[in-house]
Amino acid sequence: MTRDERLAALEQIATEVRACTACRLAEGRTRAVPGEGDPDTEVVFVGEGPGFNEDRDGRPFVGRAGGLLVRMLGSIGWQRDDVFITNVVKCRPPDNRDPGPDEIAACAPFLRRQLEALDPSVVVTLGRYSMGTFMPGARIGQAHGTTTPADPATGARDALVFAMYHPAAALRTQALEQVSFEDIARVPAVLITSRERRAANAEAEAVDLLGGEPATTTPDADAPAPAAAFATSHVPAPAAQPAKASAPTLPVESPAPVADDASQLTLF
Ligand code: URA
Repeated sequence: MTRDERLAALEQIATEVRACTACRLAEGRTRAVPGEGDPDTEVVFVGEGPGFNEDRDGRPFVGRAGGLLVRMLGSIGWQRDDVFITNVVKCRPPDNRDPGPDEIAACAPFLRRQLEALDPSVVVTLGRYSMGTFMPGARIGQAHGTTTPADPATGARDALVFAMYHPAAALRTQALEQVSFEDIARVPAVLITSRERRAANAEAEAVDLLGGEPATTTPDADAPAPAAAFATSHVPAPAAQPAKASAPTLPVESPAPVADDASQLTLF
């Protein structure tokens, strides 16, 4: 997709979100919140759902949690305009309650289509409900600060997912704020890893297209374990997908020190 095609796709999704009545959240909303950001970005942040301020403004993460997210981005030298920010549900749940499974399911096609259009290298999940979409069954206490390859069915066809606590949780608990700053300091390294992985996948795909060695279809004794095979040789991108040649490159030299060693990054 070209930048113009991506912009058009994102605008079309936003138009549909603003008119959506697929679930009961539509009844209570002031404004739907489709999401916003750089259409050429390599990194998408996915929160839970709009709160009071977002419902009023029609924009994601503009309240206190958004202020913390912007500070966290600043700690790695990024600005909110450098990334794309959206939510699992696009309308505010009443009284900021958790979104229900039926509401998440009703809204899921919008997020999937946004990810298809953006084709990010990294999806950063903010909070349990976002993480649950990309890392089913994971527990935030263990999964925060770790990565997993995105299931292409999510719309992110060749991305690493990185889990973080929700900024609102970090605002409530000092220790989680500290952990969240440590977690986000790892995101530039995750982006580098994902770029390398995507380049390797694209190269493998090109070899396939040129009639190179076909992928082995029968298991053999030397084959890596399935999880490792997914990380190193899975090629989910369709052949027609060009690289985002025009994408501005997010800086990956983090000014913030990474607290722990890289083994904390669980690539599986
Ligand atoms: N919390 C979220 O999960 N999303 C927003 O947009 C704002 C607060």
